[in-house]
Amino acid sequence: MDRADLDFAHLPFAYHKTDANVRVFFREGAWSAPEVTSEEYLTLHMASVCFHYGQAIFEGLKAYERPDGRVQTFRARENARRMRHSAEKLLMEPVPEEVFLDAVQRVVQANRRFVPPHASGASLYIRPFEIGVSAEVGVKPSIDYLFMVFATPVGPYYKAGFTPVRLLVQEEIDRAAPGGVGDTKAAGNYAASLRATVAAKKQGYSEVLYLDAREKRYIDESGSSNFFAVRDRTFITPASPSILRSITNASVRRLALDMGLSVEERPVAVEELASFEEAGALGTAAIITPVEAITYGEQEFVYAKDGQAGPITTALYERLTAIQTGEAEDPYGWCEVVPD
Ligand SMILES: *Cc1c(COP(=O)(O)O)cnc(C)c1O
Repeated sequence: MDRADLDFAHLPFAYHKTDANVRVFFREGAWSAPEVTSEEYLTLHMASVCFHYGQAIFEGLKAYERPDGRVQTFRARENARRMRHSAEKLLMEPVPEEVFLDAVQRVVQANRRFVPPHASGASLYIRPFEIGVSAEVGVKPSIDYLFMVFATPVGPYYKAGFTPVRLLVQEEIDRAAPGGVGDTKAAGNYAASLRATVAAKKQGYSEVLYLDAREKRYIDESGSSNFFAVRDRTFITPASPSILRSITNASVRRLALDMGLSVEERPVAVEELASFEEAGALGTAAIITPVEAITYGEQEFVYAKDGQAGPITTALYERLTAIQTGEAEDPYGWCEVVPD
Protein backbone atom coordinates (compact mmCIF):
# COMPACT_ATOMS: atom_id res chain seq x y z
CA MET A 1 0.00 0.00 0.00
CA ASP A 2 1.19 3.46 -0.93
CA ARG A 3 0.20 5.51 2.11
CA ALA A 4 -1.06 9.06 1.58
CA ASP A 5 1.65 11.66 2.10
CA LEU A 6 0.32 13.33 5.25
CA ASP A 7 1.77 14.37 8.59
CA PHE A 8 -0.36 11.78 10.41
CA ALA A 9 1.01 12.60 13.87
CA HIS A 10 -0.17 16.21 13.63
CA LEU A 11 -3.54 15.95 11.92
CA PRO A 12 -6.26 18.38 12.96
CA PHE A 13 -9.84 17.21 13.51
CA ALA A 14 -10.92 18.53 10.12
CA TYR A 15 -12.04 17.43 6.68
CA HIS A 16 -9.30 16.28 4.37
CA LYS A 17 -10.15 15.10 0.88
CA THR A 18 -9.85 11.33 0.45
CA ASP A 19 -10.26 9.03 -2.54
CA ALA A 20 -13.86 7.94 -2.38
CA ASN A 21 -17.28 8.15 -0.77
CA VAL A 22 -20.28 5.82 -0.95
CA ARG A 23 -23.86 6.70 -1.92
CA VAL A 24 -27.03 4.69 -1.59
CA PHE A 25 -30.37 6.09 -2.75
CA PHE A 26 -33.83 5.26 -1.46
CA ARG A 27 -36.09 5.77 -4.47
CA GLU A 28 -39.46 4.32 -5.34
CA GLY A 29 -39.51 2.42 -2.10
CA ALA A 30 -36.16 0.60 -2.40
CA TRP A 31 -32.47 1.09 -1.58
CA SER A 32 -30.20 1.20 -4.62
CA ALA A 33 -26.89 -0.64 -4.98
CA PRO A 34 -24.04 1.35 -3.36
CA GLU A 35 -22.10 3.70 -5.66
CA VAL A 36 -18.44 4.34 -4.86
CA THR A 37 -17.35 7.68 -6.27
CA SER A 38 -14.56 10.24 -5.96
CA GLU A 39 -17.02 13.12 -6.53
CA GLU A 40 -17.20 15.32 -3.42
CA TYR A 41 -20.21 17.36 -4.50
CA LEU A 42 -23.90 16.51 -4.62
CA THR A 43 -26.59 17.76 -6.95
CA LEU A 44 -29.83 18.13 -5.02
CA HIS A 45 -33.16 19.77 -5.67
CA MET A 46 -33.39 23.19 -4.02
CA ALA A 47 -36.69 22.21 -2.37
CA SER A 48 -35.21 19.07 -0.78
CA VAL A 49 -36.77 18.46 2.63
CA CYS A 50 -33.33 18.31 4.30
CA PHE A 51 -32.66 22.00 3.56
CA HIS A 52 -35.93 23.42 4.84
CA TYR A 53 -37.37 21.02 7.36
CA GLY A 54 -34.25 19.41 8.69
CA GLN A 55 -34.55 15.74 7.81
CA ALA A 56 -30.81 15.24 8.19
CA ILE A 57 -29.10 12.81 10.55
CA PHE A 58 -25.56 11.56 10.87
CA GLU A 59 -23.23 9.18 12.67
CA GLY A 60 -19.54 9.19 13.52
CA LEU A 61 -17.20 6.24 14.05
CA LYS A 62 -13.54 5.45 13.61
CA ALA A 63 -11.28 2.90 11.95
CA TYR A 64 -7.79 2.14 13.27
CA GLU A 65 -4.75 0.39 11.89
CA ARG A 66 -3.81 -2.51 14.15
CA PRO A 67 -0.25 -3.58 14.95
CA ASP A 68 -0.57 -6.34 12.30
CA GLY A 69 -1.41 -3.76 9.61
CA ARG A 70 -5.02 -4.76 9.25
CA VAL A 71 -7.75 -2.16 9.76
CA GLN A 72 -10.58 -2.45 12.26
CA THR A 73 -13.71 -0.47 12.99
CA PHE A 74 -15.05 0.03 16.51
CA ARG A 75 -18.67 -0.94 17.25
CA ALA A 76 -19.99 0.01 13.82
CA ARG A 77 -23.16 -2.01 14.33
CA GLU A 78 -24.08 0.19 17.29
CA ASN A 79 -23.82 3.22 15.02
CA ALA A 80 -26.08 1.49 12.49
CA ARG A 81 -28.65 0.88 15.23
CA ARG A 82 -28.47 4.40 16.52
CA MET A 83 -28.93 5.86 13.05
CA ARG A 84 -32.05 3.75 12.72
CA HIS A 85 -33.29 5.27 15.99
CA SER A 86 -32.55 8.79 14.71
CA ALA A 87 -34.36 8.02 11.44
CA GLU A 88 -37.42 6.66 13.23
CA LYS A 89 -37.70 9.78 15.39
CA LEU A 90 -37.47 12.11 12.39
CA LEU A 91 -39.83 9.95 10.27
CA MET A 92 -37.04 9.17 7.82
CA GLU A 93 -36.53 5.89 5.98
CA PRO A 94 -34.32 3.76 8.27
CA VAL A 95 -31.14 2.53 6.58
CA PRO A 96 -30.97 -1.27 6.97
CA GLU A 97 -28.07 -2.29 9.23
CA GLU A 98 -26.47 -4.37 6.51
CA VAL A 99 -26.60 -1.47 4.02
CA PHE A 100 -24.97 0.77 6.63
CA LEU A 101 -22.22 -1.72 7.50
CA ASP A 102 -21.51 -2.55 3.86
CA ALA A 103 -21.11 1.15 2.98
CA VAL A 104 -18.78 1.68 5.96
CA GLN A 105 -16.66 -1.27 4.85
CA ARG A 106 -16.49 0.00 1.27
CA VAL A 107 -15.46 3.49 2.31
CA VAL A 108 -12.63 2.12 4.47
CA GLN A 109 -11.43 -0.18 1.68
CA ALA A 110 -11.53 2.60 -0.90
CA ASN A 111 -9.57 4.93 1.38
CA ARG A 112 -7.09 2.45 2.81
CA ARG A 113 -4.11 4.72 2.11
CA PHE A 114 -5.65 7.40 4.36
CA VAL A 115 -5.89 5.17 7.43
CA PRO A 116 -3.29 6.66 9.79
CA PRO A 117 -0.42 4.35 10.78
CA HIS A 118 -0.75 2.34 13.98
CA ALA A 119 0.35 4.29 17.08
CA SER A 120 0.27 7.65 15.27
CA GLY A 121 -2.50 8.80 17.62
CA ALA A 122 -4.70 9.48 14.58
CA SER A 123 -7.53 7.47 13.04
CA LEU A 124 -9.83 7.36 10.04
CA TYR A 125 -13.03 9.17 10.99
CA ILE A 126 -16.07 7.78 9.19
CA ARG A 127 -19.11 9.98 8.69
CA PRO A 128 -22.32 8.24 7.57
CA PHE A 129 -25.31 10.53 7.03
CA GLU A 130 -28.82 10.48 5.64
CA ILE A 131 -30.92 13.28 4.16
CA GLY A 132 -34.43 13.66 2.82
CA VAL A 133 -34.12 14.65 -0.85
CA SER A 134 -37.68 14.90 -2.16
CA ALA A 135 -38.78 18.34 -3.37
CA GLU A 136 -41.53 19.59 -1.03
CA VAL A 137 -42.83 22.96 0.05
CA GLY A 138 -45.29 21.78 2.69
CA VAL A 139 -43.94 20.43 5.95
CA LYS A 140 -44.02 16.67 5.47
CA PRO A 141 -41.59 13.77 5.49
CA SER A 142 -39.50 13.21 2.37
CA ILE A 143 -40.32 10.21 0.21
CA ASP A 144 -36.81 9.75 -1.21
CA TYR A 145 -33.57 9.64 0.77
CA LEU A 146 -29.84 9.65 0.22
CA PHE A 147 -27.55 7.72 2.57
CA MET A 148 -23.85 8.54 2.21
CA VAL A 149 -20.60 7.68 3.92
CA PHE A 150 -17.34 9.56 3.63
CA ALA A 151 -14.11 9.20 5.57
CA THR A 152 -11.31 11.54 6.52
CA PRO A 153 -8.13 11.06 8.57
CA VAL A 154 -8.25 12.95 11.86
CA GLY A 155 -6.19 13.76 14.91
CA PRO A 156 -7.65 14.46 18.36
CA TYR A 157 -10.91 16.47 18.57
CA TYR A 158 -9.63 18.70 21.32
CA LYS A 159 -6.43 20.26 20.03
CA ALA A 160 -4.36 19.17 22.99
CA GLY A 161 -5.20 15.44 22.76
CA PHE A 162 -5.26 13.71 26.14
CA THR A 163 -4.79 16.90 28.10
CA PRO A 164 -7.52 18.43 30.19
CA VAL A 165 -10.07 20.90 28.84
CA ARG A 166 -12.23 23.52 30.55
CA LEU A 167 -16.03 23.47 30.43
CA LEU A 168 -18.59 26.20 31.04
CA VAL A 169 -22.00 25.31 32.49
CA GLN A 170 -24.62 26.89 30.27
CA GLU A 171 -27.75 28.07 32.05
CA GLU A 172 -29.32 30.31 29.40
CA ILE A 173 -29.27 28.22 26.24
CA ASP A 174 -30.72 24.72 25.88
CA ARG A 175 -29.45 22.25 23.32
CA ALA A 176 -32.38 19.84 23.59
CA ALA A 177 -35.51 19.26 25.66
CA PRO A 178 -37.14 16.17 27.15
CA GLY A 179 -39.57 14.95 24.50
CA GLY A 180 -37.46 16.50 21.75
CA VAL A 181 -34.74 14.94 19.61
CA GLY A 182 -31.67 15.43 21.81
CA ASP A 183 -31.27 11.64 21.84
CA THR A 184 -30.69 11.60 18.07
CA LYS A 185 -27.82 12.79 15.91
CA ALA A 186 -30.15 15.17 14.09
CA ALA A 187 -28.21 17.90 12.28
CA GLY A 188 -30.43 20.62 13.77
CA ASN A 189 -29.27 19.81 17.30
CA TYR A 190 -25.78 20.97 16.37
CA ALA A 191 -27.01 24.17 14.74
CA ALA A 192 -28.93 24.80 17.97
CA SER A 193 -25.76 24.41 20.03
CA LEU A 194 -23.47 26.67 17.96
CA ARG A 195 -24.48 29.89 19.68
CA ALA A 196 -23.55 28.55 23.11
CA THR A 197 -20.37 26.80 21.95
CA VAL A 198 -18.97 29.75 20.03
CA ALA A 199 -19.65 32.07 22.97
CA ALA A 200 -17.94 29.66 25.40
CA LYS A 201 -14.91 29.34 23.13
CA LYS A 202 -14.60 33.13 22.98
CA GLN A 203 -14.36 33.08 26.76
CA GLY A 204 -11.55 30.53 26.67
CA TYR A 205 -13.51 27.31 27.30
CA SER A 206 -13.34 24.22 25.10
CA GLU A 207 -17.01 23.33 25.33
CA VAL A 208 -20.31 23.95 27.05
CA LEU A 209 -21.88 21.70 29.67
CA TYR A 210 -25.67 21.81 29.30
CA LEU A 211 -28.18 21.40 32.09
CA ASP A 212 -31.56 19.73 31.71
CA ALA A 213 -33.96 22.12 30.00
CA ARG A 214 -36.86 21.58 32.41
CA GLU A 215 -35.34 22.35 35.81
CA LYS A 216 -31.76 23.48 35.10
CA ARG A 217 -30.82 21.24 37.98
CA TYR A 218 -29.26 18.20 36.38
CA ILE A 219 -26.24 17.82 34.15
CA ASP A 220 -27.06 16.74 30.58
CA GLU A 221 -23.95 16.65 28.39
CA SER A 222 -21.71 18.73 26.13
CA GLY A 223 -22.51 19.74 22.55
CA SER A 224 -20.77 16.69 21.12
CA SER A 225 -19.87 14.40 24.01
CA ASN A 226 -21.34 12.76 27.11
CA PHE A 227 -20.18 13.72 30.59
CA PHE A 228 -18.82 11.55 33.38
CA ALA A 229 -17.33 12.07 36.80
CA VAL A 230 -15.54 9.89 39.31
CA ARG A 231 -16.03 9.83 43.07
CA ASP A 232 -15.10 7.11 45.58
CA ARG A 233 -14.12 4.66 42.82
CA THR A 234 -17.54 5.15 41.24
CA PHE A 235 -18.01 6.10 37.59
CA ILE A 236 -21.01 8.46 37.43
CA THR A 237 -22.73 9.54 34.20
CA PRO A 238 -26.02 11.37 33.64
CA ALA A 239 -29.20 9.55 32.63
CA SER A 240 -31.44 12.00 30.77
CA PRO A 241 -34.06 11.79 28.01
CA SER A 242 -32.42 14.66 26.12
CA ILE A 243 -28.87 13.36 25.73
CA LEU A 244 -27.34 11.26 22.98
CA ARG A 245 -26.61 7.73 24.09
CA SER A 246 -22.88 7.64 23.48
CA ILE A 247 -21.38 4.35 22.35
CA THR A 248 -18.07 5.41 23.87
CA ASN A 249 -19.85 5.97 27.20
CA ALA A 250 -21.49 2.52 27.07
CA SER A 251 -18.10 0.96 26.31
CA VAL A 252 -16.35 2.82 29.11
CA ARG A 253 -19.04 1.81 31.62
CA ARG A 254 -18.36 -1.82 30.69
CA LEU A 255 -14.60 -1.28 31.12
CA ALA A 256 -15.13 0.50 34.43
CA LEU A 257 -17.14 -2.44 35.81
CA ASP A 258 -14.47 -4.87 34.64
CA MET A 259 -11.80 -2.74 36.34
CA GLY A 260 -13.68 -3.14 39.62
CA LEU A 261 -15.31 0.28 39.75
CA SER A 262 -18.96 0.90 40.55
CA VAL A 263 -21.04 2.47 37.79
CA GLU A 264 -23.98 4.83 38.26
CA GLU A 265 -26.09 6.04 35.34
CA ARG A 266 -28.63 8.38 36.91
CA PRO A 267 -29.69 12.01 37.06
CA VAL A 268 -26.64 13.96 38.26
CA ALA A 269 -27.49 17.16 40.14
CA VAL A 270 -25.32 20.14 39.32
CA GLU A 271 -24.56 20.60 43.06
CA GLU A 272 -22.61 17.36 42.90
CA LEU A 273 -19.91 19.12 40.87
CA ALA A 274 -18.33 20.14 44.18
CA SER A 275 -17.86 16.53 45.27
CA PHE A 276 -16.29 14.95 42.16
CA GLU A 277 -12.66 13.86 42.14
CA GLU A 278 -12.30 13.52 38.36
CA ALA A 279 -14.42 14.50 35.36
CA GLY A 280 -14.31 13.90 31.63
CA ALA A 281 -16.02 13.98 28.24
CA LEU A 282 -16.86 10.84 26.22
CA GLY A 283 -17.41 10.45 22.49
CA THR A 284 -15.99 9.02 19.29
CA ALA A 285 -14.29 12.32 18.51
CA ALA A 286 -13.37 13.22 22.11
CA ILE A 287 -12.52 9.57 23.00
CA ILE A 288 -12.05 10.25 26.73
CA THR A 289 -11.05 13.83 27.30
CA PRO A 290 -10.23 14.76 30.88
CA VAL A 291 -11.89 17.88 32.23
CA GLU A 292 -9.55 20.24 34.02
CA ALA A 293 -12.16 22.56 35.45
CA ILE A 294 -15.84 23.43 35.22
CA THR A 295 -17.18 26.93 35.70
CA TYR A 296 -20.72 27.15 37.10
CA GLY A 297 -21.87 30.71 37.70
CA GLU A 298 -19.30 32.30 40.01
CA GLN A 299 -17.77 29.00 41.04
CA GLU A 300 -14.96 27.04 39.50
CA PHE A 301 -14.45 23.35 40.26
CA VAL A 302 -11.02 21.91 39.49
CA TYR A 303 -10.57 18.21 38.66
CA ALA A 304 -7.17 18.02 37.03
CA LYS A 305 -4.62 19.82 39.13
CA ASP A 306 -1.56 21.06 37.20
CA GLY A 307 -3.21 19.85 34.00
CA GLN A 308 -2.77 16.20 35.02
CA ALA A 309 -5.67 13.84 34.33
CA GLY A 310 -6.75 11.74 37.32
CA PRO A 311 -5.75 8.07 37.71
CA ILE A 312 -9.13 6.53 36.86
CA THR A 313 -9.69 8.71 33.79
CA THR A 314 -6.18 7.81 32.63
CA ALA A 315 -6.67 4.07 33.23
CA LEU A 316 -9.99 4.06 31.36
CA TYR A 317 -8.46 5.99 28.45
CA GLU A 318 -5.56 3.57 28.18
CA ARG A 319 -7.78 0.51 28.32
CA LEU A 320 -10.27 1.85 25.75
CA THR A 321 -7.66 3.05 23.26
CA ALA A 322 -5.67 -0.19 23.58
CA ILE A 323 -8.76 -2.11 22.45
CA GLN A 324 -9.68 0.37 19.71
CA THR A 325 -6.20 0.33 18.16
CA GLY A 326 -5.79 -3.44 18.44
CA GLU A 327 -2.96 -3.06 20.95
CA ALA A 328 -4.92 -5.16 23.45
CA GLU A 329 -7.12 -8.15 22.82
CA ASP A 330 -10.83 -7.34 22.50
CA PRO A 331 -12.79 -9.67 24.79
CA TYR A 332 -16.06 -7.86 24.02
CA GLY A 333 -16.36 -8.40 20.26
CA TRP A 334 -16.39 -4.63 19.69
CA CYS A 335 -13.83 -4.51 16.91
CA GLU A 336 -14.31 -5.79 13.40
CA VAL A 337 -11.51 -6.27 10.91
CA VAL A 338 -12.25 -4.79 7.48
CA PRO A 339 -11.28 -7.27 4.75
CA ASP A 340 -8.59 -5.91 2.39
C1 LIG B 1 -22.02 11.81 18.87
C2 LIG B 1 -22.32 12.43 20.19
C3 LIG B 1 -21.84 11.90 21.40
C4 LIG B 1 -20.86 10.76 21.44
O1 LIG B 1 -21.41 9.55 21.03
P1 LIG B 1 -20.43 8.36 20.61
O2 LIG B 1 -21.33 7.27 20.20
O3 LIG B 1 -19.62 8.01 21.78
O4 LIG B 1 -19.60 8.90 19.49
C5 LIG B 1 -22.27 12.46 22.58
N1 LIG B 1 -23.11 13.52 22.60
C6 LIG B 1 -23.56 14.08 21.47
C7 LIG B 1 -24.49 15.23 21.55
C8 LIG B 1 -23.17 13.56 20.23
O5 LIG B 1 -23.61 14.12 19.11
